[in-house]
Amino acid sequence: MRSRPGADALIVTFWGVRGSIPTPGYETSRYGGNTLCVEVGFPGCDRTLIIDAGSGIRRLGDDLLGRPGRGVGGLTADLLLSHTHLDHILGLPFFQPLYRRDTRISIYGPAISPEDRLEQVIGGQMSYRYFPVRQVELAAEISYVDLREGVYDLGDGIRLSATYLNHPLLCMGYRIEYCGRVICTAFDTEPFRNIFITDPADPRYDEIMALEGEQAVEAAALRMKAFLRGADLLIHDGQFTEQEYRAGRVGWGHSSVEHAVNLAEASGSRRLALVHHDPVRTDDELDGLAQRYGGMRQGSGLEVCFAREGLSFSL
Ligand SMILES: [Zn+2]
Ligand SMILES: [Zn+2]
Repeated sequence: MRSRPGADALIVTFWGVRGSIPTPGYETSRYGGNTLCVEVGFPGCDRTLIIDAGSGIRRLGDDLLGRPGRGVGGLTADLLLSHTHLDHILGLPFFQPLYRRDTRISIYGPAISPEDRLEQVIGGQMSYRYFPVRQVELAAEISYVDLREGVYDLGDGIRLSATYLNHPLLCMGYRIEYCGRVICTAFDTEPFRNIFITDPADPRYDEIMALEGEQAVEAAALRMKAFLRGADLLIHDGQFTEQEYRAGRVGWGHSSVEHAVNLAEASGSRRLALVHHDPVRTDDELDGLAQRYGGMRQGSGLEVCFAREGLSFSL
């Protein structure tokens, strides 16, 4: 699975690809039923970056602790949270490195408001009310970093950019740059849309507001395209097909496969891995979608796949 370890700048491994809720069962065993968790390894500088703490993070934690050389010096990791919806954080109490004194972990994520800081939101989930472990039992050294839109230096030449996506809760898209390689993530997002009335026949229609709304949508779409520009790997929400999206799912905060493919092509991405698979989607249905949309796209050369647990990219 991991081709030429050490020869590549980045190794990306998927530990959870499902959206909304874990979906164990025989119908989802091939793509996997764990919610989102992606590991980015940097063989050149021995750093570990994790994006989201869905249920997939449980197996990642066990795997990290079992890796050779891990006994000495403990684990140092950075955990980027796209947002704090339950499917993206519910695996955290089961991440075994948190219960070890030799673990140092920095948790990054969007601050919802000054009263609702990341530490309180995440710490709330770790309260005894929801899980039979008290926060004091977490032996690891944990620090929290509230992110806003911008560029952050993570050290060792790793550059992190963060941007707000279009989701009912404040949600971050990330761009990670290292040694000339670029990975971008947009886990829970949908296309920006005009929130004003655009039908002139509607009595509430206001031409100026409709036009301003249109311009705001165009500006947001351009910003997103620039943010994703030239990604070696774009990991994007592809929960629905366009037909499903238009049939009553606009405003739910998730994208269609068609939107993700168009955006990946428009931004000059080389590979697109679709994630946040709908909980009702079976392996056979995902195979069907992969047949319809997957593979190399003519013209742009974009490579499209539907991510499954265990999938790994060396970049
Ligand atoms: Zn989600
Ligand atoms: Zn969400």
